[in-house]
Amino acid sequence: MHSAEHILNQTMVRMFNCGRSFSAHIEKKKSKCDYHFDRNLTDVEVQEIERCVNEVIAADMPVTERFISRNEAGKLFNLSRLPDDAGETLRTIRIGDYDACPCRGQHVHSTKEIGGFKIISTSFDNGALRVRFRVEEGEHK
Ligand SMILES: [Zn+2]
Repeated sequence: MHSAEHILNQTMVRMFNCGRSFSAHIEKKKSKCDYHFDRNLTDVEVQEIERCVNEVIAADMPVTERFISRNEAGKLFNLSRLPDDAGETLRTIRIGDYDACPCRGQHVHSTKEIGGFKIISTSFDNGALRVRFRVEEGEHK
């Protein structure tokens, strides 16, 4: 589930040049990510995001972890969302050559394990775009 969030974030960054989600709620059945934005998405954009994310999933990219110092991570990533107690060594999660970011969550080993990515709805309120999505059980086991 987390892995899908990472791919969605990178897709949003690439398509709209917005930041990664500033708030996320990841659950088994239904997840949501919030982005700083200036409007709601169009249906075409929603379809395009779904297509991009599913393309990454279908490409079966390896999901790997790497431990780097906080100092090094600070040069590579925006650490503003990182909790203060994260420590001096950070775990980063890399998804093929598509995305990398610090994360402590649970991840799949390759993107194909994620299954299908589906956006349920989006809404816009007060500078925040909310994307609600779910991940269908992997048809490919
Ligand atoms: Zn994660």
